[in-house]
This record gives sequence, structure tokens and C-alpha cells, in this order.
Amino acid sequence: MSIFARVLTFLIFAAITILSDAEWYSVSEDIMGTKVSVELWHDDKTTAEKSMAAVMNEMHAVDQGMSPYIPSSELYKLNSYAAEKPVVVSSELFSLIEKSLYFSNVSGGAFDISFSSVGRFYDYRDAVSPVDAEIKKNLSAINYKLIEIDKAKRSVRFNHPQMKIDLGGIAKGYAVDRAIDELQSRGITSAIVSAGGDSRILGERRGNPWLIGIRHPRKDDENAVRIPLVDSAISTSGDYERFYMDGEIRVHHILNPQTGKSALSLQSASILTPLAVDSDALSTTVFVLGVDEGLQLVNSLNKVEAILIDRGGMLHYSEGLLRATK
Ligand code: ADP
Ligand code: MG
Repeated sequence: MSIFARVLTFLIFAAITILSDAEWYSVSEDIMGTKVSVELWHDDKTTAEKSMAAVMNEMHAVDQGMSPYIPSSELYKLNSYAAEKPVVVSSELFSLIEKSLYFSNVSGGAFDISFSSVGRFYDYRDAVSPVDAEIKKNLSAINYKLIEIDKAKRSVRFNHPQMKIDLGGIAKGYAVDRAIDELQSRGITSAIVSAGGDSRILGERRGNPWLIGIRHPRKDDENAVRIPLVDSAISTSGDYERFYMDGEIRVHHILNPQTGKSALSLQSASILTPLAVDSDALSTTVFVLGVDEGLQLVNSLNKVEAILIDRGGMLHYSEGLLRATK
């Protein structure tokens, strides 16, 4: 291209940029006990603002329906009655429970929403853990095989008197997907939506991939890795999100369903998949499984990649990522 053509191209591009007045918009809010944020590119301020409000609406809706703490939530009602009788639930909640059971099945129970049968006795903020006797008393209630679902009736029943479920390992990803659907339906083509450690990216960032940082598990404001992403979800589960130290032991919010105690083999597990509902559930799953079994599961699944940081701070990559960097 001649100098003249280049200058002309530049001037046209600059004029379009100025005339179109397009820019980045962003907003964040505390919802579902975490920071929810959206950043998007659009040339119309009103559309951008309405779209961001729609994202927050979706997040609030998921929280209102699926929080185990809000007494009016559907999940709260399910937890109150399902051990006595089958409870009919919305198709939305039913699908999410069904999906959770799928991840339990493929992981041999590493992902188990009934972890809450024991998990609800922990309070990480106040450094409270259940005593061993209490864990023992409720441990048999952590068992996804005792969650009975009836697809035709859309009902759920717990076949254990002490069982409680919690969708904390999957609902944020689901909410992020709903938010992205909402943005797409409004014509947005470049955006990122995050709920804590769960993010999904729509399109490119103005002609380039988005550069997403995976936090260093032991250094608050540092990234351990940065990866370029386009049209992908990424979730990270880490032992630094909600935890307290009991001497040398890090007591944190991801439980090994077999012991009712924090899973200790990794510092963080990041998963890349097209949908955030899957990356969310799988990051929790792989965190529990650890390096070997975790990577084995990831490598057996389609369109799933992983970046793991083990207890010693070493990085481990799934096969697809190793191939891509060779
Ligand atoms: P967060 O973004 O909240 O850190 P993660 O995706 O890392 O979420 O998952 C942690 C959450 O998953 C916990 O707060 C809890 O609600 C839930 N959880 C913990 N252990 C398990 C488990 N073994 N199976 C399914 N869900 C779990
Ligand atoms: Mg998760």
C-alpha cells in the first residue's frame, strides 16, 4: 500500500471512530456474594446502558431463585421439603440440577451439589468448621445418587433425611450465560461478563483477542498466566476465594465430598469451555480431582481445556493447550 493510501485509510478509520462515537461501557455490582461485572462495546449509550441493566437483572433473578439463603427462593423451598416428598420445580432449576448430576456422574462424585449437607456448617468468614463428629453424622447425606429426579413430573426428591443441596459451584456460570444471551439478543457483539471467578467473552476486543489473567493464587494483585481468548467462557476455582487458616491448613470453600473437608491438591483450577455453566461446574470438579484425574477428565471431554496450579505452584496444561503452544 502506498503512503497516500495508508494515510487515507487511517483518516477514514479515525473519522468513522469519531463519528460513530462508539465506546466501552462498564458497570459492576455485588450480587450472589460476589462481584458481578459487565464491559461492552457499543455505539449507542442508551442501548449500552439498557443492556448492562439487563445483565444485572439476570444475575438478580438467578440469585433470587437459586440462593440457599433467601427463604423465598425456589432452592430454599426444595431444601425444606425434598427429604419428605418429591418437590416439583421450575424447568430452569430442574435443568441445572440435571446438569449437576451429569458432572457428578462423569467425575465419580467429585462434583456433588449435596456437598452442602456438610458444607452448610462451615463459616469461612468467622473461621468456623464443623467438628469431626458433626461431619461424620452428615457425611452419608453427601451423595448425588440419593438425589432422585423425575423428568416427566419435573420433580426432585432427596433420599436422605439430612440432605441439602447448594448450586454455588454452577449457578454463577449459568447466570453469566443468561447474561450473555441477553446481550446477544440486544445486538451486542463485543463484551465480557463476570461473576466472581466465572467469565464469558463475546467476540473480540476490537479486532484483538481479550487478554484474560488467571490470578496468582498466593499473590493478590498478580496474574500467574494471561491468555488470549475469543468467544469463550473461563472459570477459575481457587483456594484463596473464601478461606481461613487453621494453623498450616487452609480451610476453604471447595469440599471433597468423600471427606467433607476442603480439597487440598490444587491451589487453582481454570477451565475454558464455550459455555460458562460448564466451565463453572468443571473448575470446581477439577479442583476436587487434582492434577492427574482432573486432566484425565478434561482431556476426555470435547471443547474443554484446563490450566491447573498445583500445591507447589506448578502449572499444568490440558492436551489441547499444550498442542496450541507448541
Ligand atoms: P466461587 O466462584 O464461588 O469461588 P467455585 O466455582 O470455585 O465458586 O465453586 C465453589 C463453590 O462451589 C462453593 O462456594 C460451594 O458453593 C460449591 N462447592 C464446594 N464444593 C463442591 C463440590 N464438591 N461439588 C459441588 N459444588 C461444590
Ligand atoms: Mg465453579
